[in-house]
Amino acid sequence: MLELKIELAPQRKEKPPADKLGFGKIFTDHMFVMDYSVEQGWHNAKIKPYEPLELDPSVMVFHYGQAIFEGMKAFRTQDNRVVLFRPEKYISRMTNSARKLCIPEFDEAFVVKAIKTLIDTERDWVYGEEGTALYIRPFIIATDPYLGVRPSHTYKFMVILSPVGAYYAEGFNPVKIFITDEFTRAAKNGLGDVKTPANYAASLYAGEKAKQMGFTQVLWLDPVEKKYIEEVGTMNVFFRIGDEVVTPVLHGSILPGVTRDSVIQVLRNWGIPVVERTISVDELFEAHAAGNLKESFGTGTAAVISPVGLLRHGDREAVINEGKTGELASRLFDSITGMQYGKSEDLFGWIA
Ligand code: PMP
Repeated sequence: MLELKIELAPQRKEKPPADKLGFGKIFTDHMFVMDYSVEQGWHNAKIKPYEPLELDPSVMVFHYGQAIFEGMKAFRTQDNRVVLFRPEKYISRMTNSARKLCIPEFDEAFVVKAIKTLIDTERDWVYGEEGTALYIRPFIIATDPYLGVRPSHTYKFMVILSPVGAYYAEGFNPVKIFITDEFTRAAKNGLGDVKTPANYAASLYAGEKAKQMGFTQVLWLDPVEKKYIEEVGTMNVFFRIGDEVVTPVLHGSILPGVTRDSVIQVLRNWGIPVVERTISVDELFEAHAAGNLKESFGTGTAAVISPVGLLRHGDREAVINEGKTGELASRLFDSITGMQYGKSEDLFGWIA
């Protein structure tokens, strides 16, 4: 049986004011660490003071990128509880990522419990200001000091925490999206459906080019025909076409977002039809020309809902809902954040 040891930091860091948090820049006083070796399996699980790592420069993660990660959040509710949103779902996705990256599986229930203990240790870092959250970053890295290409025999599992500010401090701002048919994010039967650094490295170049042209993010097309919609930036994407909401079906190169799943369930609960299917760029522009493309938004843990105001593909441009936030996007944002901050009923048992 794995045991969780706790070593507390002798001193606590000063906490910045809520409006200075930003995203992912500040880290709390403690972290979770656990090691893996072939002989001992996962062992040495502990919560300890947050500190830099000492690693041999030859460790495999630096050279071949054998690593996986997750991103989820804890919230302080109106009545002052500290809660997590769907932690089991994120951790089970991490198991899928581990399988694909040849990283040994771990006891999911133990990891969720360790994260809850870590959050409890750091509960003072869960700000109460509206829109703030404690971002949770679990990750695993390959730590064999070895330059040959093969799966590592040793690993480090860590969880770090970062208090994050309100994503929409200045209100919802619909984003401008560039649809690239030059670059692709993930190969067919590759790593696109799991959370591994390689996918993010692969997205940087196209993302920077889109920014230089004045767009917020890239919309990725399928890697084979470059005709079908996959994801937008690091979010899943939804379109309201006529009376239906459509989102790309998960077929192997799209990340199965936890927010995507939550949005689908909430919409269906409202009686709004949601269809998961392939959606071509041409279909979108045709729907737009016919006045049927009513709304579009991205979904992800960081922003929850991110309205899309404009799509550009080659020399075609579609302004959606006059570049304003759609009604469904606002309603979904209010619904999901309402559950997270304990303002509305936890209808689906997502709050842990
Ligand atoms: N796609 C990609 C590539 C992502 O990095 C993310 C963020 N994890 C998402 C989609 C949205 O997933 P989730 O709703 O689980 O955050």
